[in-house]
Amino acid sequence: MVHLLNYINGQWCLSQASEHLPVVNPATAEKLAQVPLSPKSEVEKAAVAAATAFMSWRRIPPTSRVQYLFKLKILLEEHLDELARTITIECGKTLAESKAELQRAIENVEVACGIPILMQGYNSEDVSRGIDEIMIRQPLGVTAIIAPFNFPGMIPFWFLPYAIACGNTCIVKPSEKVPLTMQKVFELLEKTGLPKGVVNLVNGAKEVVDAILEHPTIRGISFVGSSPVAHYVYSKGAAHGKRMQCQGGAKNPIIILPDADMEMTTRIAADSAFGCAGQRCLAASVAVTVGEARYSFTEAISNAAQKRVVGYGLDEAVEMGPVITSESKARIEQLIQQGIEEGAHLLVDGRNPTISDYEKGNFIRPTILQNIHPQSTVARTEIFGPVLGLMHLETIEDAIALVNSGQWGNMACLFTTSGAAARQFRYEAEAGNIGINIGVAAPMAFFPFSGWKDSFYGDLHGQGRDAVEFFTQTKVIVERWPKDWSRQF
Ligand code: NAD
Repeated sequence: MVHLLNYINGQWCLSQASEHLPVVNPATAEKLAQVPLSPKSEVEKAAVAAATAFMSWRRIPPTSRVQYLFKLKILLEEHLDELARTITIECGKTLAESKAELQRAIENVEVACGIPILMQGYNSEDVSRGIDEIMIRQPLGVTAIIAPFNFPGMIPFWFLPYAIACGNTCIVKPSEKVPLTMQKVFELLEKTGLPKGVVNLVNGAKEVVDAILEHPTIRGISFVGSSPVAHYVYSKGAAHGKRMQCQGGAKNPIIILPDADMEMTTRIAADSAFGCAGQRCLAASVAVTVGEARYSFTEAISNAAQKRVVGYGLDEAVEMGPVITSESKARIEQLIQQGIEEGAHLLVDGRNPTISDYEKGNFIRPTILQNIHPQSTVARTEIFGPVLGLMHLETIEDAIALVNSGQWGNMACLFTTSGAAARQFRYEAEAGNIGINIGVAAPMAFFPFSGWKDSFYGDLHGQGRDAVEFFTQTKVIVERWPKDWSRQF
């Protein structure tokens, strides 16, 4: 059994962990490797290495720093197939989904290559007679990234390229459920020739996270995961004086108006709800039909759910893989049962399917609960599986009120052919990412990933200009030169 390594100060090292967890293929139940639950002392080593590296890394001009990212982009593209297979094997999604997430990772590297201009400050001459004022951006120092299981290749890249391009050094802690992808990414980072200590990898779980949150040298932390953990991480990191950005969970509603193009809407809604087996923070979780949309959408989405090809993500024909663990599968099936007990009608039942050759996998087929009550558990809980709840309302105003009544605000989508309805929705819906005839409103790398409410704790989001702001601190210089020639006039 392969024991995964940490990467600290430019060296691959065996962890001194007393405990390891198996990394398991969710489709086959095969044990792929052992991941160490690294102790606090290994975060300490990584922090010392990153702090030492920072002293010289921050002095390397941004134009030279981004040369490593140009190399990384090429390496990621050259190894895309191998990385995608790794994501599918450890995370369960289809190969097409794995490739798509890597493409998003690469796009963030591309945007961060613009750091020489993105990091520029500004200045004003003669703020008073003979006095000039200049704002410059400087890196924070040592930063850390804590990632969830569902996008092992993409999510660290919402932060990492910006962190290092801005002159910071970095420690990455991948999810202990899917640590293989970052092992491979770090092999590529090593090939770029980055100076030792600029990027470090520490595998583990809560002990590593707590050590990061408490470490006095670490200045900024980027977290993505479930809302309760995001809230814990945000609060504890802030209490230790760190700059924090913590992206949390979601419960995303999509609204279908009677004038929507029903064929397109159904296809997009099914992809949103069942793509990545519903394990996306931008997955549609509740579909609200308005007026006459009810009948045509219900029939069409039910057909789409039943037709979806479920199986091992490495098989080309497969459209949906398993959920991450057997515990996840049990939790999702329990929530479906609770939905039924709360009065919903089980329109499509995907529980306990037989997937031939993969009987040990964590499979659930697409499931639809009809007529869920707005206050029920299934309408309010992040299920994080291939389960779509259907609800019906009479007006767009009612639908917007429902969107705004939730605890989360990651995404809300509207399907319509009316520009006026679309404008009303984007103006009034309380969510950070809005889709209009889009089912997964994932911002491109040059836009912030803008969750609201309990979907995000912090001020500056991941990606693009927000990331540049997060990974730099501004310094203002007010200067006067006594012999300034302008004094003569
Ligand atoms: P999780 O919260 O269980 O784990 C996330 C990270 O936190 C992991 O690295 C894990 O090791 C660590 N962790 C877990 N419990 C901890 C604890 N008690 N103390 C300290 N650290 C702890 O999340 P997950 O199951 O890996 O990922 C799924 C969740 O992530 C979903 O809720 C999903 O919506 C969310 N997510 C959000 C976004 C977003 O952009 N808002 C994107 C992807 C995933």
